[in-house]
Amino acid sequence: MSLSLVVTENTTIRIDICPNKRTKRLRLVSGMNGVQAMVPLNYNAKELESFVASKRDWILKTSQYYGKLKERCRWLEPYTIYFLGGRYRFHVVKDRQPSTMISDALKLITFHVTDMRRYKQHMREWYKQQTSRIIADRLPVLASRFNVNYNKVSIKNQKSRWASCSKKGNLHFNLLLSAAPPNVIDYVMIHELMHLIEFDHSHQFWQLVKEADPDYKKHREWLANYSLVIRVA
Ligand SMILES: [Zn+2]
Repeated sequence: MSLSLVVTENTTIRIDICPNKRTKRLRLVSGMNGVQAMVPLNYNAKELESFVASKRDWILKTSQYYGKLKERCRWLEPYTIYFLGGRYRFHVVKDRQPSTMISDALKLITFHVTDMRRYKQHMREWYKQQTSRIIADRLPVLASRFNVNYNKVSIKNQKSRWASCSKKGNLHFNLLLSAAPPNVIDYVMIHELMHLIEFDHSHQFWQLVKEADPDYKKHREWLANYSLVIRVA
């Protein structure tokens, strides 16, 4: 049940009517969910209409205020991060010991931090641990599968690259790599391992990558599409 209040020629505000047996007199409530008229069960429609009309300025003012607030909340949506290709909301809470909890059911990651002002550093540390663990698990498997030897591995806070390798055979991976789905992380490792055979992005190089990862084009595309949204908020 609702009624419409015409404010200007092309603006009407919808007012939801909420009858309640405990409500004695007409009352308006404005908030993020719009405007509600609290009315007694036996309210008089005509009376409500003129009451609403008399509160026109107040309705307009509060609706604009909450409308803007709602718009700003939408921009706060960047409180999302990625982990293994999944999208999560995150919370930061102050605690005596730092820890991180992942709820897959709620799609929520909670960072318990000792210093709220340094939460981004805590998030980076957490990503670094996750990425290190995955690389330590998968890289030796992939290297022996494709019969290549690498030297040292490091996980770094690289600004613009997912990974790189040196002529000495040292491999560097971006600490945010664990944000990507597992098969995309595999592709990044395969890409660097193949550079140990073909250092340049030559035709032969891409041929080797394709043999090792037939879906490599899809995985490169994922990285290209997501590299802008994957960051520490
Ligand atoms: Zn490359």
